[in-house]
Amino acid sequence: MFDTAIAGSLPKPDWLAETGKLWPQWRSEGAALAQAKLDATLLWIKLQEDAGLSVIGDGEQSRQHFVHGFLERVAGIDFEHKVEMGIRGDRYKAMVPQVVAAPALKGRVHAAEARFLRAHTQHPIKFTLPGPMTLVDTVADRHWGDRVRLAMAFAELLNQEALALQADGVDVVQFDEPAFNVFLDEAATWGVQALERAAAGLRCKTAVHICYGYGIQANIDWKQSLGQEWRQYERVFPALAASRIDQVSLECIHSRVPPELMALLAGKEVMVGVIDVASDAVETPEEVADTIGRALQFVPRDKLIACTNCGLAPMSRAVAEAKLRALAAGAALARERCARG
Ligand code: ZN
Repeated sequence: MFDTAIAGSLPKPDWLAETGKLWPQWRSEGAALAQAKLDATLLWIKLQEDAGLSVIGDGEQSRQHFVHGFLERVAGIDFEHKVEMGIRGDRYKAMVPQVVAAPALKGRVHAAEARFLRAHTQHPIKFTLPGPMTLVDTVADRHWGDRVRLAMAFAELLNQEALALQADGVDVVQFDEPAFNVFLDEAATWGVQALERAAAGLRCKTAVHICYGYGIQANIDWKQSLGQEWRQYERVFPALAASRIDQVSLECIHSRVPPELMALLAGKEVMVGVIDVASDAVETPEEVADTIGRALQFVPRDKLIACTNCGLAPMSRAVAEAKLRALAAGAALARERCARG
């Protein structure tokens, strides 16, 4: 009861990359960088295990950013000539690469870190990839100028990598789709279709993470504009409930998401966000267990996974470590409460 997992990213140690940034610069290059990435991965495997998490991830230590880490291995993407573009509905500006030809994988994307993760933990492992719609929203398309067509092309490539990750021993392949909370009608139609294409043929567990973004100021300001009730999930959850995706991740703690929206995910495993990534205040186990308790009104016990609201990448390492411990301790307390009835 109550597996525990991170959404995906964890802070990079300061010997690997700049800290406190979403697009940090690496501290080294070449073979030294490749080794440093794996060393940082090993560090976070150990720290997740020591915190008591049941599902372990690589903390995305080998990618600069969750979207660009994938795109860097895609031919047809011009990283030499990035352009500034408003992303996530113009919520913030980012320097994005351009699509200049039909995209194709140059080879494996995440083989090294996925195999390394598999080799260094006995726990089930989860591996994250950006979802097709979020990829589309984080590039400037100079080739087709057609978001649906580009999403389906990306979905094919994601599917190739996802099948290879499964062969590497990954237990859960998760697609990150923060764009689902921005383009609501499109998410429920071609967004979910592209997601299912990306997950086609997978026998391991499949998951989708939908959030209100990292705890950066632009996202905090955006959340302030969303009113008293955040009902964005209401549009896409029915389409996801009808899909083949096994697990759906949502923000819960300190959000204004009405908990009853989780009832729209009947039949799915629900990754409930019980750790806030927009605050350095470390949750108490009681707060985490209380949040799990609220979710249990709408999610069966055997389908609830305790998770972070989003990635922890821009946070300090000490805060992230403390939050991992709170996540595991809170889930343990929730189990005790259930056992007491
Ligand atoms: Zn997220």
